[in-house]
Amino acid sequence: MALREIVKDNNEFLSKKSRPVEKIDGRIKQLVDDMKETLIKADGVGLAAPQVGVLKRIFVVDINVDKSDIREFINPEIIKKKGKNDKYLEGCLSFPGRSFKIVRPEKVTVRAQNLSGEWFVFEAEDFIARALMHENDHLDGITIPQIGKEVFE
Ligand SMILES: [Zn+2]
Repeated sequence: MALREIVKDNNEFLSKKSRPVEKIDGRIKQLVDDMKETLIKADGVGLAAPQVGVLKRIFVVDINVDKSDIREFINPEIIKKKGKNDKYLEGCLSFPGRSFKIVRPEKVTVRAQNLSGEWFVFEAEDFIARALMHENDHLDGITIPQIGKEVFE
């Protein structure tokens, strides 16, 4: 495993659309391992591949918010959304120190592949639903300064 550098602010990788992963090979496994390690080091909740300069449809999310289960989502699709809320301010490792108010669904269902290539369905609500939407947006080049209202605390 190795740490990767997190790209920030106006870096071009943050505004580009990522491509699907065709084959989950050794390089993808290495990338996912590195992303997990980088997420832990940065003390974040989620990290998407474009944030480490790789335009592939992969993100990782710390689904229990205690680093006990950092899960990879490869070729993710949001297949269901329900409700909305804006009760959390949202930050991003690529925009350190900034907070944004964003309305997101209350519940989401995501379909994705794991590192073994198996498809799984994952349902989340509240804070983790928000994290999944946030990371999924990165794969389409969408970042929180574009869609949120900045809050100065
Ligand atoms: Zn982010």
